[in-house]
Amino acid sequence: MADRTNPPQLSIVVPLYNEELNIDYLFQRLESVLERLGSTYEIVCVNDGSRDNTLKCLIDHHYRNPAIKVVNLSRNFGKEIALTAGIDYAVGAGVIPIDADLQDPPELIGELVDKWRLGYDVVYATRRSRQGESWLKRFTALAFYNTIGKMSRVPIPSNTGDFRLLDRKVVEALKQLPERTRFMKGLFAWVGFKQTSVMFDRLPRLKGKTTWNYWKLWNLAIDGITSFSLLPLKIWTYIGFVISLISFLYASFLVIRTLIYGVDWPGYASLMVAVLFLGGIQLLTLGIIGEYLGRVYEEVKNRPLYLVRELYGIESQTELITP
Ligand code: UDP
Ligand code: MG
Repeated sequence: MADRTNPPQLSIVVPLYNEELNIDYLFQRLESVLERLGSTYEIVCVNDGSRDNTLKCLIDHHYRNPAIKVVNLSRNFGKEIALTAGIDYAVGAGVIPIDADLQDPPELIGELVDKWRLGYDVVYATRRSRQGESWLKRFTALAFYNTIGKMSRVPIPSNTGDFRLLDRKVVEALKQLPERTRFMKGLFAWVGFKQTSVMFDRLPRLKGKTTWNYWKLWNLAIDGITSFSLLPLKIWTYIGFVISLISFLYASFLVIRTLIYGVDWPGYASLMVAVLFLGGIQLLTLGIIGEYLGRVYEEVKNRPLYLVRELYGIESQTELITP
């Protein structure tokens, strides 16, 4: 990997997917902040299979400033995995993942570093406001954080994205988590360590369009819940128990009524309701088991998380082993 003998103090990790419009301004802002801080730094950019000129722009910037390093993935793996790749290749004493669209202000890095110097291992940036987001997005985000907060055993801080500072020991801990479903917010929380937060205002995206839609967010939410809670699997025991109890009481009622008043045919409606209701519940339960089973299958296949096509400014690991 990069210069292991003399690692920089800070590694900024940027996942990029079709961000050519934001790159120049991103580096301008990042570099001015980092120069002002006076720390040694590297900027690890992960090109997540962009279909525009992102890669070419990144390489140009790498030749201009060798502190800018590029990891080019073999295809689009999604933000969470691109971020994992960047964190794997970063060598700094502190690692800061940041979005390329400047929704996370680079100017906050100074504050993050200050808290880090005070001895915190993780300093996360919490959004005070969500400008440029619709009420539906805000409402679904709130509902999601509430649900996962209640279901997960580790507290997952709400309204924090991936913008945060991670100490090297936290990064090494994260690298030991081998799971394929990289729900980063949850993984960051799971590793623990001494954590604190700073507040900031999240701005609207600078240029380009977000690649997120509600379907992707829904899937991210399912990933988050299934990898940090077994409640959806376990709850069916209790629901089944309650339904059995009700059925038993109703059956007793029917038997007693038949004994007293004799046989009587009506009852089609209640029969249909009971059959359809139970059928629905059974399918739902099967679906939930399927969600977990599918994830077990993904883990068992044990494929690498990502594939790298080429590296700029970073020595590949294989070269280190066989010089
Ligand atoms: N991103 C990525 N791969 C993807 C989608 C997004 O690396 O498949 C990057 C994107 O370039 C940006 C960050 O992830 O740096 C956040 O993406 P976006 O702004 O679309 O998400 P949002 O801010 O709406 O959550
Ligand atoms: Mg964004």
